[in-house]
Amino acid sequence: MGKKKIGAHVSASGGVELAPANAHAIGADAFALFTKNQRQWVSKPLTTESIELFKKNCADFGFEPEYILPHDSYLINLGHPEEEGLTKSRNAFLDEMQRCEQLGLKLLNFHPGSHLNKISKEECLDRIAESINLALEKTSGVTAVIENTAGQGSNLGNEFWQLKYIIDRVEDKSRVGVCLDTCHTFTAGYDFLSDYDWVFEQFDKEVGFEYLRGMHLNDSKKALGSRVDRHDSIGKGLIGNAFFEKLMKDPRFDNMPLILETPDETLWAEEIAWLRSVE
Ligand SMILES: [Zn+2]
Ligand SMILES: [Zn+2]
Repeated sequence: MGKKKIGAHVSASGGVELAPANAHAIGADAFALFTKNQRQWVSKPLTTESIELFKKNCADFGFEPEYILPHDSYLINLGHPEEEGLTKSRNAFLDEMQRCEQLGLKLLNFHPGSHLNKISKEECLDRIAESINLALEKTSGVTAVIENTAGQGSNLGNEFWQLKYIIDRVEDKSRVGVCLDTCHTFTAGYDFLSDYDWVFEQFDKEVGFEYLRGMHLNDSKKALGSRVDRHDSIGKGLIGNAFFEKLMKDPRFDNMPLILETPDETLWAEEIAWLRSVE
């Protein structure tokens, strides 16, 4: 058995308790999910029955919490320049953290936030760090996992230093981490096709592999440095198979959830099998 834990962002429609079977069906040993409707601010609380079934199904299919990487709602902006949007986002993020807590999960993956051209990058990053501190204070056992972004529009998190800037301002360093999305890294301008070693050395220097909690494995429809976020199926985009093969053989990515967010879900089982075959 290899040390790579590979899965996809599977559907939880009909209830979070259905996600483990969806992940098992594609041969995954890791998965991601939304614990609430990702396009709504408010969702019904999880029921006790749903929570118990989720835990039971994870145990039955052999999914450990370390390899489950829930993703928060796309509406949340933890660096929102305005008080109302910031408060709304912080409340929704706390709810997401609490859902993870209830489900016995250890990670929550989120996009850092956007300055909306109203405040400076640093002011926005300060707000994001404070938002994380507020959520960590009120919860326990769940790590806030910051995802790097393509840097589309005013989204922050596209440069490695920004991830570190946030981490430096989080009080409990044991509960903050990073998720690198391969498509975002590429379109943000990190050329791991020409210089794989340099890009990950740079990540190690600027952030540190000790903070890496997971990866999103996506090919890209858009070019290096385009700052546009369009995922493609593995091997079908501008990144290509050779990079993913290298990543699968790289021990720095062992023992963490490696999650496909590729657009054609009918290919997930095949993509996972191929990734395993080149490990
Ligand atoms: Zn992603
Ligand atoms: Zn993306």
